[in-house]
Amino acid sequence: MTIRHLLSDVDMGKEEALAVAEVIRSKWLSLGPRTAEFEHCFAQAFSVKHAVALSNCTAALHLALMGLDVGPGDEVLLPSYTFVATANAVLYQGATPVFVDIMGEDDLNLAADDLESKISTRSKAIIVVHLAGFPAGMDRIMTLAQKNGLSVVEDACHAIGATFGDPANKRFSGRKAGTVGDAGCFSFFANKNLVTGEGGMLVTDDEALASRVRLARSHGMTKSSWDKAHGRAYGYDVVQLGYNYRCTELTSALGLIQLSKLPHGNAARKRFATSYRERLTGLPGISIPFEGRLEDSAHHIFPILLEKSGERPRFRESLDAQGIQSSVHYPPVHEFSHYLEKFPNQRHLDRTEDVAAREVTLPLHPLLTERGVQDVCAAVEETVSAAL
Ligand SMILES: *Cc1c(COP(=O)(O)O)cnc(C)c1O
Repeated sequence: MTIRHLLSDVDMGKEEALAVAEVIRSKWLSLGPRTAEFEHCFAQAFSVKHAVALSNCTAALHLALMGLDVGPGDEVLLPSYTFVATANAVLYQGATPVFVDIMGEDDLNLAADDLESKISTRSKAIIVVHLAGFPAGMDRIMTLAQKNGLSVVEDACHAIGATFGDPANKRFSGRKAGTVGDAGCFSFFANKNLVTGEGGMLVTDDEALASRVRLARSHGMTKSSWDKAHGRAYGYDVVQLGYNYRCTELTSALGLIQLSKLPHGNAARKRFATSYRERLTGLPGISIPFEGRLEDSAHHIFPILLEKSGERPRFRESLDAQGIQSSVHYPPVHEFSHYLEKFPNQRHLDRTEDVAAREVTLPLHPLLTERGVQDVCAAVEETVSAAL
């Protein structure tokens, strides 16, 4: 069967092609004026003091932890129900991940109660993931962090453009996801809401953190190639350990245009998510998490939960046979071989394990149509009724 509905698709066209062509004509291809402009516009759009463009979000997570002095012996609390990059960043700094369970089958974000019970004298930071685009309950998380002297990094890869607004985020109502922790990290990978292929952004209001991240992005050097080429520097010093996590000018040119398309794209996602909910809510055999949370989400993905985990392979095969791509978000990080070997005692994340085994992700992207949503829903209904 040919694919009728892609899981994810990208709204990219002529404008992006022209912007990239312009960079190519300029022959300045890495860290330069386009990147400075992208950072400036991003910081404005998110009402933050500093935005640092990086090669990807994994680099942003890594440099956030580095900049917040997370190191060997420190524990970082984070959900296991996330993409593995969130946890890998902790390992890059030689710190120990402490996995926190999720709230449950309606709220797939990390549970403040479990978080609180796992805070120890070695705890140094919390990484919050706003899963599927729905902001986690930051009121309690930030209170716990402040009470215990912990830094907070928001992995806002799914939630770019989401605005805090639900009752668990009263304190931050109206602010953008990713802007209330010490640092917020965004990804521009090929399937995200803002796409440049590869790319990431770290945002913060902390000037010292921003300058450490800027230095570490380019080898810890005090001067950039742009400064040197423009006669502003003849030599440089290396003042801290750095990496090559630079962003290209091509990426920034794409990013500037994609940033301007983000509100429109997120609004389209919201319309399609609304239609999915209208048709699928109450359908026997499935449930839809994050009930009543249409307004405050960036609607990055559309997760549903099957009643029984054993049904998933057959369910996905049936969608596949009807030309509909699906996916699974996510296999829990603590169950991957590498993590099982290194952290064999981090088990018993019952709610994470239960939900992760039953989750299926349906197509959601700005180029999906109302008809597309109805097609997918019909296939889901047919698959579910065949199983009854
Ligand atoms: C995509 C993603 C990342 C990694 O972003 P990259 O830009 O690919 O490095 C990290 N965390 C989450 C939750 C993601 O979805």
